[in-house]
Amino acid sequence: MEENKKKKVAYFYEPEVGNYYYGQTHPMKPHRIRMTHNLLLNYGLYKHLEIFRPSPARDDELTRFHSDEYIEFLRLITPDNQHEHLRQLKRYNVGEDCPVFDGLYQFCKCYTGGSIGGAVKLNKGQNDVVINWAGGLHHAKRSEASGFCYVNDIVLAILELAKYHRRILYIDIDIHHGDGVEEAFYTTDRVMTVSFHKFGDYFPGTGSIEDIGYDTGKLYSLNCPLKDGIDDESYEQLFKPIMTKVMERYAPDAIVFQSGADSLSGDRLGCFNLSIKGHAECLKFMTTFGKPMLVLGGGGYTIRNVARCWAFETGCLLNVDLADDLPPNDYIEYFGPEYRLHFTPSNMENQNKKEYLEKVRNKILQNLEKISPAPNVPFHDVPSDALEVDERPDAELLDDDAKGGGQLGEEKKKLWDGEIDESDGEDEKPNRNVSDAEPSKRSSRNKANGVGEVKKENGAGGKASDEATPMDEGQD
Ligand SMILES: [Zn+2]
Repeated sequence: MEENKKKKVAYFYEPEVGNYYYGQTHPMKPHRIRMTHNLLLNYGLYKHLEIFRPSPARDDELTRFHSDEYIEFLRLITPDNQHEHLRQLKRYNVGEDCPVFDGLYQFCKCYTGGSIGGAVKLNKGQNDVVINWAGGLHHAKRSEASGFCYVNDIVLAILELAKYHRRILYIDIDIHHGDGVEEAFYTTDRVMTVSFHKFGDYFPGTGSIEDIGYDTGKLYSLNCPLKDGIDDESYEQLFKPIMTKVMERYAPDAIVFQSGADSLSGDRLGCFNLSIKGHAECLKFMTTFGKPMLVLGGGGYTIRNVARCWAFETGCLLNVDLADDLPPNDYIEYFGPEYRLHFTPSNMENQNKKEYLEKVRNKILQNLEKISPAPNVPFHDVPSDALEVDERPDAELLDDDAKGGGQLGEEKKKLWDGEIDESDGEDEKPNRNVSDAEPSKRSSRNKANGVGEVKKENGAGGKASDEATPMDEGQD
């Protein structure tokens, strides 16, 4: 039947998200989420999506993973009072890569609300796929901000999914190692984490192929270390055989896919050489297994390419082809002079030679052979909050040997060196407009509120902003 064939795709979007601002020279621009949204609306994808505005995550939801003290700190810290809390800023790694900015706590609750809300929808079987491009902040730790991430919405969404799904597969194609998620689930087989990332003198420094999990979690963390310049073909030659084997051996009930776009060619912080199609091929491949899937954003610092990539991937999830000619949209000036959806990767050298790729692939496939097929976990424990804070493996207790590649005593690697952007002036200009436009923020908000537009134009978008996610019922 046609209905069965067509996937029901939900999409979470908070119109305010684009107004949060890390700072003028900071490479993380929440504005890219608004650009993505505007682009996909103008491609007409709203006709195929159920659009939801997320309910902000509640304090008690955040502390399912994070420590009470850390969340309390995020709730209270402001640009005005931060100078009175220097010790805590240091303790929680807030200040440089992860600055204090206006509305920081609301921002965290907003992107996390979409991810938890998405997990609830999958738990209830209301959708086959849920998208939250504002989520995917994979570096945040239990009591520490890291790499532009404060609250780990991914861990929280996985904990929500774990109430109704026995085995959850996490896949991370951001150029940076998905360290926060790996650490949270390092000692359990309930969640398998798979990260493809640049490894070697690169943030966050973890993610060696030797790091495979610990104790009950041994073999359920998987790391695929890559070198500069990887292209579509090389990436696919690793991704597809590895993920095919993962699906065969682990047989997950649900998938969480972090689609970080800093692995694209030309990223301001990245050094890979993927095209949008090559990037999207990973996501498309995972949809062929027909499992409930939560699709999240992540890194991505050449923001015109982030918007292109995530709009295209939204189309892929809907089986809708998007024309290469970009439609008129509110941010069209970012996409000149070509005004096209796709771009050609650079001619940079691919340092991942054939022998290296084969070695990595074989090693990972060998490890996958060792795992017990579809590990059977005591599912009956799950709805009674088997993974609540007290019982959850606390990665902080692991010693550095067990984690491998520990960085004790080393300077913390930085994701961003604090330099003012040189190469990517296009990104700065429109963003400066946003901040310059502080007083008229409200009008730009209304304009950017695509959810409202959907509602007006179609009359079909009633779900958009009224139906907040039924998270209140969904708990426990
Ligand atoms: Zn990243």
